[in-house]
Amino acid sequence: MARTETLTALLPFVHRLPTLYGRPVRAWSLYVATGGTTYVGHDGYEDVVATHYAYDSSVPNHTQVNEGDLLILRDGHGSLGVARAETLKSRAGTKRRRRCPTCGTSQVELRKSLAPQYRCTNGHTFENPVAANEPTTLYRLEYGRSFRPFDRLTATQMERLCVAAAKQNAIRELNVDRTLASLRAHGMEAVPE
Ligand SMILES: [Zn+2]
Repeated sequence: MARTETLTALLPFVHRLPTLYGRPVRAWSLYVATGGTTYVGHDGYEDVVATHYAYDSSVPNHTQVNEGDLLILRDGHGSLGVARAETLKSRAGTKRRRRCPTCGTSQVELRKSLAPQYRCTNGHTFENPVAANEPTTLYRLEYGRSFRPFDRLTATQMERLCVAAAKQNAIRELNVDRTLASLRAHGMEAVPE
């Protein structure tokens, strides 16, 4: 092993991640829809857990995630994998949205056993939402090279790592130091490069 590699291997875990590309690295929890949701405001995100994460400009924190950041993919049960954000692409696009015909919100729920079938977050109920293709910015975050499956953090443990209590958000910031310590405590000795 070359001398530089030996030194790198000896560095403490947390020292591997302070900066990348000359700026501080942040950590993010990314929610992957795995079915069973009643939320029908959009047709679902194009998520392929092990390779990339797709989102759009309606998602809180969509401008905050950057190449080099640490990512933990999660679903409703807990972590699914750990990766580094490798490439972030964005482009103009459209998104199919279903809105409340009364107030226009896309926060619309399908009710399984009640009529009318739909109810918006403001309490309006209706038979059918109004659907339209609306302009948006589409983001695609790629991390297939660095992705490692990792299912050892429960949803509760993930929650404790979050910077803010915003459970409804798909993209949530994680405390970097506590996240690194937690990954290490659960058997991940080195974060993906
Ligand atoms: Zn409404």
